[in-house]
Amino acid sequence: MRNKLVDVLIAKGIVDPKVLDAIRTIPRHLFMDSGFEGHAYQDKAFPIAAEQTISQPYTVAFQTELLAIKPGHKILEIGTGSGYQTAVLLELKAKVYTIERQLELFKKTNLFFKKIGYTPKKIIFGDGYKGLPEEAPFDGIIVTAGAPEVPKALLSQLKIGGRLVVPVGIDEQIMVIFTRKSEKEFEKKELGVFRFVPLLEDKN
Ligand code: SAH
Repeated sequence: MRNKLVDVLIAKGIVDPKVLDAIRTIPRHLFMDSGFEGHAYQDKAFPIAAEQTISQPYTVAFQTELLAIKPGHKILEIGTGSGYQTAVLLELKAKVYTIERQLELFKKTNLFFKKIGYTPKKIIFGDGYKGLPEEAPFDGIIVTAGAPEVPKALLSQLKIGGRLVVPVGIDEQIMVIFTRKSEKEFEKKELGVFRFVPLLEDKN
């Protein structure tokens, strides 16, 4: 079933063999709530706890491909959710820092990582809008929820040459990729329309 899913992703334009290998390896059904696990290898998003979703495999593959991860890269993920995207980053041998603001999901996915044997460097309960200044700079930052606007703190936490991949918009999102060219310069590209659950900012 995973091989079939990979064929679907190739047909939709995913080319990076390491990303495709990760999708081929990871048991997505174990990241899903029971009741949906029978659908795990469809290219679709599904509900998880706390009214959130496990992202569609195509979206996960597309965002990961844009990060251009090399082994050992330090990657920050905003929105741990089910942990599936985290697992893809770990399969690519990144050092992963991941932040989740829903306590229920943070606890559940934390335990699940231990059970299944995936080990991010840090799993943080908190507001990813602010990034993780104490661990910055990062080779890549991936936001897995729709940001109403580009979180400025995240841009400042990129290494020179590092990339931020963030879906920006309210009802639907444009996938935006920023590459840091120098201390002050960023190159911006916009790549297609997606639909994510909202990135919520804690105002306090
Ligand atoms: N990568 C996840 C996607 C989950 S959906 C997966 O594949 O399963 C997006 C996640 O972002 C949700 O779990 C949501 O709670 C979380 N989120 C929303 N706003 C956030 C914020 N400000 N900081 C951290 N996580 C946030």
